[in-house]
Amino acid sequence: MQRIPLLIPDMPQTDELIGLLREIDQHRWYTNFGPLAKRFEAQLAEGFADAAVVSLANCTLALELLLAARGLPPASTILVPALTFVATGTAIRRAGHRLLVADVDPHSWTLTPEIARAAAAAQRVDCVIAVTALGCPVDAAQWDAFSAQTGIPVIVDAAGAFGNQGAGQRIAVAFSLHATKTMGMGEGGFAVSGDAGWIERVRCLSNFGIDPVDFKVHQAGTNAKLSEYHAAVGLAALARWPERATLRRARANAYRQRLQAACAGLAFQQRPPEGAYAAFCVLLPPGADPARVGSHLAAESIETRRWYWPPLHLHPAFADAGVAGTLDATLAISSRLLGLPFHLDLDLPGMDRVAQTLARALGAA
Ligand SMILES: *Cc1c(COP(=O)(O)O)cnc(C)c1O
Repeated sequence: MQRIPLLIPDMPQTDELIGLLREIDQHRWYTNFGPLAKRFEAQLAEGFADAAVVSLANCTLALELLLAARGLPPASTILVPALTFVATGTAIRRAGHRLLVADVDPHSWTLTPEIARAAAAAQRVDCVIAVTALGCPVDAAQWDAFSAQTGIPVIVDAAGAFGNQGAGQRIAVAFSLHATKTMGMGEGGFAVSGDAGWIERVRCLSNFGIDPVDFKVHQAGTNAKLSEYHAAVGLAALARWPERATLRRARANAYRQRLQAACAGLAFQQRPPEGAYAAFCVLLPPGADPARVGSHLAAESIETRRWYWPPLHLHPAFADAGVAGTLDATLAISSRLLGLPFHLDLDLPGMDRVAQTLARALGAA
C-alpha cells in the first residue's frame, strides 16, 4: 500500500532558480543585505500597504528580535496562547522573558484581544504574542486597537499564515517561510510592521546589533540575516505563489467535503475559506483518542500529527509558565486535534483513502 505522508514541501524547482543563481554569480555578493534580499523584501512589502519589511533567517529569530527590539526589562511577562508551536515559547525564553499562557477562542483556535484584555486586567502583562493557529489569521486592526488602548506592545506569530495575515500599524507580524509552511523557501522568514522604527531596530539586531551609523554595538544582537541563496529561492517561491495558493485552497475545500461526507461528528477550525493553508486538522468526535486513531491510520500507511501537542505550558521547559484564567478551549481542542496528510501531491483518490480509513478508525474506537 502506498504511504501517504503528512506533508510534502512545495518548493521551487531547479529550473526556476537557475537565472537567479546566475545573478548571484554576477554580483559576487552572497549575504549581508544583498541585491536579491533587497528585491525579495521589496516584493514582500507590496503585499502590505504602508508597512516596513525585514527579511530574516527564520520566524523564531524574527520573534526573538522583535521582542529584543522593544527594550523590555529582563524577565518581562509575555502573554501567549497555550495552543501554539513550541517556537513561540523558545523565542520568549531566549529573549530572557517569562511566559504567561492564556486560552484561545474555541472557533478560530487563536488568542483574541478579549482574552488578552481579561488577562491584563487580572495581572501584569508587558507584551502579547498572538498566534495565527495553523495559519488562521488574526484581526490586525483589532490588535492595533488593543495595543493603542492598553499601551501593551503586540507581536503576531504568523509563522504559518503567509498569504492570509495582514500587517498592522502598531503591531508587528512575523512570518515563517520554512519548507513546511504555505510558501516555503527551505529556511527563511520576515517581520513586517507599520512601525518602521521597530523593523529597522530588528534589522540592526539581525546583523549582531551593529549600528549602521556609528558601527558600534549598543545592544547585542545575533546573526539572523538572509543569505542571497535563500533570497533566490524566496524570489522563485513568490513568483509561483499565486498559482500554488489557488491550488491549496481548492484542495482544502475538496478534502473537507470528502471528510465530512465519510466521517460523522468531525469538527473543523473556523478559518477564512479564501485562505491558503499548509496544514489540515480535524477535531475528532468527543471520546475518540487522537493517539489511537493516529496509530490506526499509521497501520494503514497514513501519517498524521498531533499539531501543537502538548499545549505550551505542558512541555517540561515551560512548566514554570504562568497561567491566565482557564484553558478550557485549549485543552478541549488539543485532546481532540489530529493533523491529517495535506499537500499538493495528495490527489482526490488519496483524500478518499484518508477519509475512508479515518471513518473505519473512528468506528473501531
Ligand atoms: C513554524 C512555526 C514557527 C517557527 O518558524 P521557523 O521559521 O521554522 O523558525 C513559529 N511559530 C509557529 C506558530 C509555527 O508554526
